[in-house]
Amino acid sequence: MPFDLQTELNERAQQGLLRQRQILQSGQGRYITLNDRRYLNFSSNDYLGLAAQPFLIKAWQEGLDRWGVGSGASPLVTGYTEAHAMLEQTLAEWLQVESVLLFSTGFGANQAVIKALLQKEHIQYQDRLNHASLQEAGAQSPAKMLRFRHNDMAHLASLLQPRSGLIMSEGVFSMDGDQAPCQQLAELAAQSGNWLMLDDAHGIGVLGEQGRGTLAQQGVAPDSVHIRMATFGKALGVAGAFVGGSRQFTDYLVNFARDYVYSTHMPPAQAHAISAAVAWVKHADDERAHLQALIRQFKAGIAELGLVAGESSTAIQPLIIGDADKAVAVANKLRERGLWVTAIRPPTVPKGTARLRITLTAAHQPSDVCLLLNELKECVTDA
Ligand SMILES: *Cc1c(COP(=O)(O)O)cnc(C)c1O
Repeated sequence: MPFDLQTELNERAQQGLLRQRQILQSGQGRYITLNDRRYLNFSSNDYLGLAAQPFLIKAWQEGLDRWGVGSGASPLVTGYTEAHAMLEQTLAEWLQVESVLLFSTGFGANQAVIKALLQKEHIQYQDRLNHASLQEAGAQSPAKMLRFRHNDMAHLASLLQPRSGLIMSEGVFSMDGDQAPCQQLAELAAQSGNWLMLDDAHGIGVLGEQGRGTLAQQGVAPDSVHIRMATFGKALGVAGAFVGGSRQFTDYLVNFARDYVYSTHMPPAQAHAISAAVAWVKHADDERAHLQALIRQFKAGIAELGLVAGESSTAIQPLIIGDADKAVAVANKLRERGLWVTAIRPPTVPKGTARLRITLTAAHQPSDVCLLLNELKECVTDA
């Protein structure tokens, strides 16, 4: 065998870090079914509870009737339809960005941008807690990678060289739920003549006026960020992603981003469904307010219990446990009691910061949060 897979797997297992998938027997929602048992679900990125909404299912079905199942080709061949163009235009207007391209996954969108843009002579500046899709592509890129301490603008400023490349940050950090200081990022980018890219996978749909995301929430001008990226698989309830920027930038990607050019386009019916999701999300102020109320309830309850939650005021609420085995033990205990919460361990998060990544969604009720708090009280202190 040219590859020693078993040794690697054994090592992971010895460290208590072996990962295994769980088979769901239900769709996403307030409850999920696994192993023939129903659990209250605190482990989903479907922040607005859209993934199983009848209006969205209907929109996807309409799209299927009109466009069939597959797109048939890459976007430069015959895979680019009116359904895609319509979604691009909808996103551009909603997010106040000049031009937008669609991708089948957020992971792929980040690869596409970084690989197409960054050459050997460039420098990339990445927040240390950036998502794996940014860091993976960055590590493989010929451009030098400098990682700045999480949200530490003084550290970033000390690293920046004039007109040297690209600063990358998430809007809402996926494992911590805290937000990047977008105004300061934009100012540092402008002052140093570098570009800024914001991955707003966890901000879009949930934060800001009309759910426009982290920039809107923080009152930062949309055109102060050169590259906008976000996914459709979280608050928008579907799957896929977009990358936005100037027309010149998207024209460049259409010509030079191999991940875009040589990949079958998203099915048009899916693009049609995402357009319906966006139209709904713009007006979902009540759902966003409901979610914020649940978040406040959770944070107040955690403080009362004397447990340590993160800085987060978003739907992602990390409860740092520290030890990986203990985090898993707590998650297992919660499961015995009918609550599905995921323990996140290294290498996804730094060593010694294993955590429960609790996510709240607009599908939850205040009574669900009460139940969670009660069970956490017993499970965390016992473990
Ligand atoms: C989920 C996520 C991605 C990847 O998007 P997919 O569409 O799931 O591939 C990229 N960036 C961040 C910050 C994410 O949370």
